[in-house]
Amino acid sequence: MRKRWLSLAAVGAVLAAILVPATPAMAAPTFKVPFPCNQSWSGQTRSDHSPAYAIDFNRTDDLGDPVVASAPGTVDRVTDLGGTSYGKYVRIDHGNGYTTYYAHLGAFNVSVGQTVGYGKVIGYVGSTGGSTGPHLHYEQRLNGNDIQARFNGALALYWGTKTYTSDNGCSGTNYGTGTVNTTSGVSLTVRSGPGTGYSAVGSVADGATVTIYCQTSGTSVTGTYGTSSIWDRIGTGRYVSDAYVYTGYDGYIPSVPRC
Ligand SMILES: [Zn+2]
Repeated sequence: MRKRWLSLAAVGAVLAAILVPATPAMAAPTFKVPFPCNQSWSGQTRSDHSPAYAIDFNRTDDLGDPVVASAPGTVDRVTDLGGTSYGKYVRIDHGNGYTTYYAHLGAFNVSVGQTVGYGKVIGYVGSTGGSTGPHLHYEQRLNGNDIQARFNGALALYWGTKTYTSDNGCSGTNYGTGTVNTTSGVSLTVRSGPGTGYSAVGSVADGATVTIYCQTSGTSVTGTYGTSSIWDRIGTGRYVSDAYVYTGYDGYIPSVPRC
């Protein structure tokens, strides 16, 4: 009886294998090149790399350059292994078993548990850990195993060196707009950082429309729209107090990333 049961089970297993295909991998996220929009980076793959499908990215004078999230997800590791292996690295969980790794970072710009989207700066290129020069060591993994990387669904070059141009965060859909309102016709001072203690680097006319790339917390300012510690980044190294900008929201704009 036992033998017969086993053989029926075996038949059943064979039938199941025929009728039900192996669980397909869940759709992969659309991974993008892990650098800001329009930047071109040289990505190298080599069979003696560890793990084999990792990509080392370089460009001229890349030390300190921002590294961005390849796809939306949740940061689940921000780890410093010291002078060995990955050194300072970030891991992002993209769901469905997919993760990405960003290693040898010089500095971090995220914390564990943080939700990130395309184009979010997660850290800066460095040469920490077992690295002999500045570069980004990048991996895509599925269920913990490294997989051949794809960008916008296209397989990366294995093996060799290829230039990849980023379209990460280019869409602009997560930018916001606002209207400067000082009520007095006086221009609004633009600062180099999110606070009144930063140097003035220009001004925006009363009534002007500004593009808000990201928002962050800084000096509390009382302005046209009450008291707010939110600062809007309207360009590279250009911040204005949100207390003088009409955005349609009392607090942070939901669709705009944090700086
Ligand atoms: Zn590497």
